[in-house]
Amino acid sequence: MWRLGTVVALRDETATARTIMLEIPDWPGHAAGQHVDVRLTASDGYSAVRSYSIASAPSVERRIEISVERLPDGEVSPYLTRELAVGDRLELRGPIGGWFVWRPRQTEPIQLIAGGSGIVPLMAMIRSRAAAGSTAPFRLLYSVREPGSVWYRDELRSLPERDHSVSVTYAYTRATPKDWPRPAGRIDTALIASATWPSNLAPTCYVCGPTSFVESAAGLLSGTGNNPAKIKTERFGPTGDRQ
Ligand SMILES: Cc1cc2nc3c(=O)[nH]c(=O)nc-3n(C[C@H](O)[C@H](O)[C@H](O)COP(=O)(O)OP(=O)(O)OC[C@H]3O[C@@H](n4cnc5c(N)ncnc54)[C@H](O)[C@@H]3O)c2cc1C
Repeated sequence: MWRLGTVVALRDETATARTIMLEIPDWPGHAAGQHVDVRLTASDGYSAVRSYSIASAPSVERRIEISVERLPDGEVSPYLTRELAVGDRLELRGPIGGWFVWRPRQTEPIQLIAGGSGIVPLMAMIRSRAAAGSTAPFRLLYSVREPGSVWYRDELRSLPERDHSVSVTYAYTRATPKDWPRPAGRIDTALIASATWPSNLAPTCYVCGPTSFVESAAGLLSGTGNNPAKIKTERFGPTGDRQ
């Protein structure tokens, strides 16, 4: 079922990423980790469908946020991040997904691992945790190219100050901030060992990002003793369902 959402606010996250707030009058509500499909239709009837994770916590207001990275040669993301304006309407289907979901009744330690735009559904989990008043201990390991690529920067920066049971570790793959203790590079076993929950605490792990990132991070988690059944993954590869 396709629903119509109206753009009510836009916010730039980085030079290439934008958050879009939509008001959807018949929105049924969602859980953190779910996504929507967005359908764009041209005047000649050609349409394209892409999936976008929901960034916002579930709320009683019929509003959701999605955050989109602009791919220079992309069909849909340049439109969403450049041309879409407040007041425009978008067709959406969802919420979709039931496995890659965090619910406030979960009290076990939670390990989040994001690569690039894969932060989106994990941010929804962090926001849901706060909105629900949950005290479940959360750790986020967030891999970005460089300091300017961090999404939700101010909110993430202030998180550990407000709540000691949430910690955030950054991993920079191309350029680090000045005097950063770890050289630029991909997430490896040493970082997993130092920045994630010990596997004997049996955390539930949520890993999201580009397919190769997700496979590598999930492999490192199971290699450090985590139960594969507790490693949930979401791959942001090209969307399969195109129309
Ligand atoms: C469940 C799910 C949730 C997603 N959530 C988000 C989200 O929250 N934010 C977000 O920005 N994106 C998200 N994506 C990716 C999104 O659906 C699109 O694939 C992306 O926006 C590119 O669409 P496009 O039409 O601009 O590019 P396309 O025209 O589809 O592709 C342009 C070129 O880029 C390549 N490409 C396509 N997608 C990607 C990608 N993700 N990474 C690297 N190269 C790619 C293509 O192979 C092609 O060469 C999600 C994907 C899935 C499956």
